[in-house]
Amino acid sequence: MESSKLVDSFNRRTTKVRISVTDKCNFACFFCMPIDPIWMPRADVLTYEEIVRVVKVLKHLGINEVKLTGGEPLVRKDIEVLVNEISQVIEDISMTTNGFFLNEKARLLHENGLRRVTVSLHSLRRERFKFITNVDALERVITGIRAAKDAGLSPVKINSTIIRGRNDDEILDLLEFAIREGVSIRYIEFMPFDGKNFWSLDKVIAGAEIKNTIESRYKLIELPRGVGSTSSNYMIKGTDTTVGFITSVTQPFCSDCDRIRIMANGSLVPCMFGNMEFDFRHLLREGASDDDLEKFFIDKVGNKFAGVETMVHEKAIPSHIRPMYTIGG
Ligand code: SAM
Ligand code: SF4
Repeated sequence: MESSKLVDSFNRRTTKVRISVTDKCNFACFFCMPIDPIWMPRADVLTYEEIVRVVKVLKHLGINEVKLTGGEPLVRKDIEVLVNEISQVIEDISMTTNGFFLNEKARLLHENGLRRVTVSLHSLRRERFKFITNVDALERVITGIRAAKDAGLSPVKINSTIIRGRNDDEILDLLEFAIREGVSIRYIEFMPFDGKNFWSLDKVIAGAEIKNTIESRYKLIELPRGVGSTSSNYMIKGTDTTVGFITSVTQPFCSDCDRIRIMANGSLVPCMFGNMEFDFRHLLREGASDDDLEKFFIDKVGNKFAGVETMVHEKAIPSHIRPMYTIGG
């Protein structure tokens, strides 16, 4: 495979893009949404045609993996049409979703080229699930996870964001659920991108602590970490389930970061922990050629900042740069 032309001054090559297709969401997770979200003006949100054009440009530059996110990607109308069009450009296409609409959509998404899916699930207790997301939908999300498996999406992964004092008593329950359902699970450290300015370092349960909790009951077999992987991954001995730890706060993997993010309004965010956002919607709408767009991405990715590894060691983590619903995780 031709190597990526998106290379920064630290010699990191970008091969993956996360595209937020909307900032809207039918949930309001307390660690993500502000009380009064400021939605992007509708006219600013990229059309499917614009997104596909950008994907083609990025493919030419060496991107070979697309993840659709949001807000909630499944609230965007006819999202399977976008999946279909992107999958004809880049085969490796996946999605992160809250799972609410998966029961209805999983088969259609798979038929249109979606390969795999990550479903966010932070509690197995009905009342707590409702408290976290603001919607009484635990059963519906569980049904959605099963529908994703039945539809042939593979792998199906669960993402659980763990917050001290809120759901850290469910680490093992969530794992056992994943084992029972035959899906993978990844625990995400609480990141400083909540909409309510509630985040503080003492509310973060480090991946290492979560791992210790799991090891009190299960034997973990370490799996090799793929280049650019955001998580360290393990197999649970005696099961088909893998568990991952996304340690963005306590142990970020910046040195081989291989991804960029695109916001729904056509802004490129080279690093989630950086405050740089570069608008290309205007380029798209003002007649830029594909060459112009390529130059834009090469230039902006080229100047990507080093990342937060050193800051983390000094406990000076940039916080509240933008709430997660605007960027998609
Ligand atoms: N709505 C979809 C969902 O919830 O999966 C996709 C977008 S959501 C922003 C992507 C992921 O970010 C979810 O797994 C969510 O749990 C996670 N997330 C949101 N806010 C977070 C925060 N402050 N810290 C860590 N993870 C967060
Ligand atoms: Fe919506 Fe996902 Fe944010 Fe929850 S985490 S409010 S489901 S965008």
